Amino acid sequence: MADLTPTTDRPGLHVSKPSPNAPATGSAVCHCGASATATGDSQVRALVEGYTANHGAAHNRTGR
Ligand SMILES: [Zn+2]
Repeated sequence: MADLTPTTDRPGLHVSKPSPNAPATGSAVCHCGASATATGDSQVRALVEGYTANHGAAHNRTGR
């Protein structure tokens, strides 16, 4: 499990949903230093959208 969790050394986005009836959990760490976690399907969806819109590869699109 620790291998899948993003850290500042290995930035990224990780989402897991153990079973269809269990709430999803997500964690995101960006190389810029931002990090966030979320629990629950809607919160995780917002986390993923916010990360992809503002962090991760988005830094390359804006040149920052
Ligand atoms: Zn970032």
